[in-house]
Amino acid sequence: MISKKMEPLVKNSSVIRAMFEEGTKMKALYGEENVFDFSLGNPNVPAPKEVKDAILDIIETEDPVKVHGYMNNAGFIETRQAIADHLNRLHGTDFDARNLIMTVGAGSALNVTLKTILDPGDEVLTFAPYFVEYGNYVANYDGKLVVVPPNLENFMPDIEKMKEMITPETKVVIINNPHNPTGVVYPEEVIEKLSKALEDKEKELGTVIYLLVDEPYRELVYGGRTVPYVTKYYKNTIVAYSYSKSLSLPGERIGYIVIPDESDESEDFIEAATIANRVSGAVNAPSLIQLVIQRCVDAEADVEFYRQNGEILYNGLTEAGFECLRPEGAFYLWVKSPEPDDKAFVNKGKKYNILMVPGTSFACPGYVRLAYCVSKETCENSIPKFKELAKEYNL
Ligand code: PLP
Repeated sequence: MISKKMEPLVKNSSVIRAMFEEGTKMKALYGEENVFDFSLGNPNVPAPKEVKDAILDIIETEDPVKVHGYMNNAGFIETRQAIADHLNRLHGTDFDARNLIMTVGAGSALNVTLKTILDPGDEVLTFAPYFVEYGNYVANYDGKLVVVPPNLENFMPDIEKMKEMITPETKVVIINNPHNPTGVVYPEEVIEKLSKALEDKEKELGTVIYLLVDEPYRELVYGGRTVPYVTKYYKNTIVAYSYSKSLSLPGERIGYIVIPDESDESEDFIEAATIANRVSGAVNAPSLIQLVIQRCVDAEADVEFYRQNGEILYNGLTEAGFECLRPEGAFYLWVKSPEPDDKAFVNKGKKYNILMVPGTSFACPGYVRLAYCVSKETCENSIPKFKELAKEYNL
């Protein structure tokens, strides 16, 4: 009945659903405050006040035919121009409305980009650990996801290994910065090295290799770090951005793609991606929230909230004897499982009402991810439980 392509997705999705349902059941049984649910990356910080004000004002003052109507499949030109101006101010780039396509979140930005580029059998490289949906998105267009093994030393991309794994079929390399699930931020040296390696490979193979930069966590960085704007380093860069995390709007489904003029055949790319947006069934990104974004391009995320949660967990877990990466960005803590089987560790955590995601789900066994987009109290109150869990391992 359902297609062969869907069967594994349904099976996999039921594992995620089972985890979600388990959390709901535990909360009903033990009380919400006694369950330490670090499983989901759903921001708990409310959207900034500017967003609510903009929604109300647009509804009150703008022409409803415009607010709720169809527009160019790429999105409202004024919205795209406002974002282009914002990016140019921040990064010294030279974008214009035509370089941007509004999408239904980063998920859609990635899909539209892959649909624009991939022919069946084309290869897409990414680095483990990675956001598991990449595999599904690539499969949507009959591409082949090729995974560079994790660099367990510091979780930066293994560029030497990438060079070995690139073939004439490689059309795209996906990176995610700041990074889900490890919380690392790739600094300028890494982006420079990666760009150089890709340029060399393009020359050697005589092909175009797009660097697709997935950056829904761009603004969520700590300790004065900056996230390099990759179009300035590598001309065939395509950026997939989302307001899901920065402005806590995941349900509104709003993001965009940046296609720089200097990228190969950029005009054809922009035209094809605009059509890909339409034929994906999305047609265009939701209209009301596009107009909201136009007015809120400078609204800021509550980075300090996430930073504090990250520090509470990092300090607490390290003190308990766990080995963790100190978060540099996003809102994830990456913890080494004290036993090789990360799923067994996740199961032991459940005895203490702690919910974590095994690294196996990100193609990196032996680790677990904690999403700390939860209340400060949840983070603080979980520490004694982690200490009890640590005792099971004699840490
Ligand atoms: N990419 C990464 C790395 C993510 O973590 C997520 C969501 O968690 C997405 C893309 C999808 O984001 P969106 O809600 O904008 O589709």
